[in-house]
Amino acid sequence: PTLWDVVVIGGGAAGIAVAASILKRKPHLSVAIVEPSDRHFYQPAWTLVGGGCFNPANTCKATSKLIPNGAKWLRSRVTEMEPTHNRVTLEDGQSLNYQFLVVAPGLELNLGAIEGLESSLGKHGVTSNYLFELASYTWECVRNLQRGRALFTQPPMPIKCAGAPQKAMYLSCHHWEETGTLGNIDVQFHNAGAVLFGVADFVPPLMEYVKRYNANLNFNSTLIAVDGPAREATFRRTNGDGTSTDHTEPFDMLHVVPPQRAPQFVRDSELANEAGWVAVDEATLQHPRFANVFSLGDACGASNAKTAAAVRKQAPVVAENLCAVLENRAPTARYEGYGACPLTVEKGKVVLAEFGYQGKLQPSFPLDPTVPRRSMWWLKRHAMPKIYFELMLKGHEWLARPGKL
Ligand code: FAD
Repeated sequence: PTLWDVVVIGGGAAGIAVAASILKRKPHLSVAIVEPSDRHFYQPAWTLVGGGCFNPANTCKATSKLIPNGAKWLRSRVTEMEPTHNRVTLEDGQSLNYQFLVVAPGLELNLGAIEGLESSLGKHGVTSNYLFELASYTWECVRNLQRGRALFTQPPMPIKCAGAPQKAMYLSCHHWEETGTLGNIDVQFHNAGAVLFGVADFVPPLMEYVKRYNANLNFNSTLIAVDGPAREATFRRTNGDGTSTDHTEPFDMLHVVPPQRAPQFVRDSELANEAGWVAVDEATLQHPRFANVFSLGDACGASNAKTAAAVRKQAPVVAENLCAVLENRAPTARYEGYGACPLTVEKGKVVLAEFGYQGKLQPSFPLDPTVPRRSMWWLKRHAMPKIYFELMLKGHEWLARPGKL
């Protein structure tokens, strides 16, 4: 059509889920999903791939198989958004006009922000679970390391799945513990931030594992450069008085979580907030100035934890509110900031951290959420991928009914 009812930018977790939820409510709308990639990734399992507990091939599906019935996949990339003209431009110069826009292109890994990182990744023991191609290399590095020094890094917030940097460390340490080599390995966690986990309730159980694995925590310590062939990493430590000092450490294995930011076309647009993410009302996920624009997923500027779990609750909220505005009603559905981080503290046990805005706990089960459990490992390893592909991406809103405003 020359005028789409809805244009969705991105066919990742958020784009597919929200398109399915909208079409469930209004099957006759014309919905376009703009997505450049023919492969769709279930990223939450990459942590398990890095720990040798998940087949990487099962984290990837053909985009064509996931596009909801009734939606049209436009295989392209958005380069510009002009919300005052209700128009987006694609990379081939073509433009799309819309009645409603949903912005869900995820976030961008800023590999270039760390000197020497791009040329080192995938060799010299330098790896990252944040890249599909490298999650299995993490497992190779872990298996090959018998003695020496292993460094795990966490960049400044916000990042997707804030627990993933330490999950990589716990699963690696558990393997070394099982094979009897942990005592020969100096494990260091370098965190640009000042706390182990943003929600204080979960810090004590995590500290138990830090102690058990004899891992060293370095706070306010940001990776700034990597020299792969020399196997050296440089960190900048911010001191209490605002000054900083750089120091270089040798390593045998380096697991890097790259700094993350909104995609450039979002940062450059009128829709962005000061930090570059898509500005939204925290409750309705509607843009504060453009009533026909919504956003969800990692690109969205709400202050929730950037996770697929958040998307599961956000998609019905956006669908509900978009349909309300379409019918000239005010938005009715409220998002409470839900996000979840299944912390894989050992192979076979997970601390399921579920929380909303301001770190308010939102457990789905009537159990103490701070206890590591086998049941939650089962949920993460076996149930979550099914919930993702079979429910969330198909617009089945089981356990995800939105609250009312
Ligand atoms: P994505 O799923 O990344 O999709 C974005 C899509 O937009 C992509 O397909 C991309 O090709 C497309 N796109 C990009 N630019 C454009 C453009 N210009 N035009 C059109 N399309 C574009 N979440 C959890 O809930 N639990 C976990 O345990 C968990 N663990 C994680 C571990 C790792 C290692 C990683 C990397 C992530 C993890 N996550 C976890 C986070 C989760 O994967 C993301 O929060 C989720 O995928 C966000 O969905 P999204 O649609 O916003 O982004």
